[in-house]
Parts: sequence; structure tokens; C-alpha cells
Amino acid sequence: MSNYTIAEINLSALQRNMEIIKYISNGVKVLNIVKANAYGHGIVEISKASEEFGADALGVANVEEGIKIREAGVKLPILVLFQHFKDESDLVCQYNLNPIISNDECLEYYDKFLKKNGGTLNLYIKVDTGLNRMGAKPEDVLALSKKVLSYDTLNIEGINTHYAAADMKDDYSKEFTNKQINTFNEVLNTLNKNSISIKNVHTANSAALIYYKNTYFDMVRAGIILYGYADSPCKPILNLKSHVVLVRNIKKGESISYGMTWISDNDTKVAVIPIGYADGISRKLSNNWEVKINEKYYPLRGKVCMDSIVVEIFNDNIKVGDEVLIFGDDEKLNADTMAERIGSISHEILVNIGERVKRVYNKKINK
Ligand SMILES: *Cc1c(COP(=O)(O)O)cnc(C)c1O
Repeated sequence: MSNYTIAEINLSALQRNMEIIKYISNGVKVLNIVKANAYGHGIVEISKASEEFGADALGVANVEEGIKIREAGVKLPILVLFQHFKDESDLVCQYNLNPIISNDECLEYYDKFLKKNGGTLNLYIKVDTGLNRMGAKPEDVLALSKKVLSYDTLNIEGINTHYAAADMKDDYSKEFTNKQINTFNEVLNTLNKNSISIKNVHTANSAALIYYKNTYFDMVRAGIILYGYADSPCKPILNLKSHVVLVRNIKKGESISYGMTWISDNDTKVAVIPIGYADGISRKLSNNWEVKINEKYYPLRGKVCMDSIVVEIFNDNIKVGDEVLIFGDDEKLNADTMAERIGSISHEILVNIGERVKRVYNKKINK
């Protein structure tokens, strides 16, 4: 099945998106976010391509993802964006990952490892300016910074924060974001006054990159925009495709799929496509999506199954083996429009593409 249901990933489009991001962000450094299997696009391939195309750093969610791309040969700085566990401290040092800390819990563990094995560790301090997920409270950042600097094995490479609503256009969200920016600037001032200089300051996710020019500092963190979504000239780099595996005649009054939720008004034809909710096609799309076959759109009929969907093809001449676009770089069928249908966001649509969908890349990345 896997060879007939594929995620085609266009690395030339990734390169173009990176150029657009560089242009929008006025040439500051860019960190490519590759967490969650690079939003479903394949963490090793996207990380290597990012390195080849000139990214300045990579961001992963956890230590395991960091190790995976380090072992694949990636040399770029790798930031672990989320809090890791104490017992992963040795691995962070061993694989030269850059942790982002909210408190001083792991410092002594890093120090112990580094004293024993040599070397130093560059870490980032996260400031909680309102998301209330991770990060030190603004009033605690100075003390935490001093604590880090009291270890001669540890350097503060940078400082950052994360926005709660940079993508939203209502007044309350804008006010909230501006408050977060102000709080963060106050923290920077305090550190400055105390002669603590920070090399690498970053706050912008994709939405801030697009809507808030005053969030760039030294580097931006490009997530969903890199993969071609968010309100920018960047283009989707992934096309989720399959092929017709059966064509069937349906009589007027017959129903399709579990629960008989769709009943045909006419004699008609349907095509069966081997992709289902196990591959990331939400059951909420039952009777509520279209696919594209030979440049025409066809409606999904009945419930999405684990391994298949059924679409009505009417009297059109569609044959077994014809290619089917589920979603991708298409005005009607993309991760944003799919997300709208099911009350989600493009991030979730992309990361839900199942493991058995084979990722196919249009360009070989050497290294
Ligand atoms: C995931 C993540 C991002 C990227 O978010 P997008 O909305 O995809 O741009 C940026 N920063 C942090 C800390 C993240 O966890």
C-alpha cells in the first residue's frame, strides 16, 4: 500500500520558502523548526536539507529528536525547545544539544557530566511572558542567569520567549502580544543593566514573523511557514497523494461505508482510494472533503474508514491507478482548508500524516 499512498515532498520548494523567510525577516538568523518529524515531513531529510540550504539552527521538541538528527550527521546547533527530564542531562551534553531552561534543576547534572568528560554547554533561558507553559517568570530571570554563570562549565548562549496569540487579529490578542513583547524587553534591560550580555535573542514564531516586525531580535523561529502555511508567499511543500484502487457502480438508494451515512440519489460510480484515518484523514471529514483526480474535484461519500475512503466520480472516465490528490499545494485542497473543515490548524493536519505513508523527496540531499 505504501507505494501507492505517498507524501511527495518538494525540497526545492523548501529552499524557496527559506529564501522568502530570509527576505521577510530582514536577514536575521533563521532557526528551522523540525520537531514532530518536521511537521510530518521527515525529520532527518528536512534537517539535512535545512543545513544544506543555509539554516542557522534547528529546533526540536525533545532530546530523542535531537539525538536522531545529530546521529544522522547534522552539525548545526540543535535547540531542544521543550523542557527535558533531569535524567536526560548527560545526553544533552554528550550530543551537544542546546537546552532551553525554565529553572535551575538540571544545572548541577550538566556540570557534573562536563567536569567528568570535559567541554562546556551553551544553554538558553526561556522567559515566560504570558503563555504560562514553560519559562522562568520575568522577575526570576536575573537570579537564574547569575546561577548559570556561577558554573564555569555553562554559558548563556541566548534567551527567548514564545507568544500566545501572535496569529490572531482581534484587539485583545494584539494587546496581549504587545504586552509580551514589552515584558520581554524589560527583562533584556534588566540583564543589560547587570552587565549580562546575551548573544542570541529570539522570540518570533511564524505568526510573529509575519505580523510583528519588532519580534525578530537576532533570530526567528520558522515553523509552519517553512512548510508553506501561514499568511505568507511561502508555498506548501508537501502533496499527499494516492491512487484509485477500485471503481464501482452504485445503484440509486444504495448507501456507502459504515453507518450508511450517505445514500445515493442516482445510479452513479465511485472510486475507492487506499488512504484512511490511520494515514491522517480525520473521520470528521466523512461526507465533508473533496479530492482531485485528473484536474477535477470529487466529493468524499460516507464515513472515512481506517484504510480507505470512497469518492463519487459520477460518469467520468476514471480508472484504477489514476493519481489522486488528497491535499497539498492546491488552492482548494490544502492543510489550511482541511483544518478549517474540522476545527483545527494546519500544524495538526500535517503532523497527523501517518507513519505508513511513504515520504518521497524530489531532490537528493548529499551528506
Ligand atoms: C513549535 C514552536 C515554534 C513554531 O511555531 P509555528 O507556529 O509553527 O511557527 C516556535 N517556537 C517554539 C518554542 C515552538 O515550540
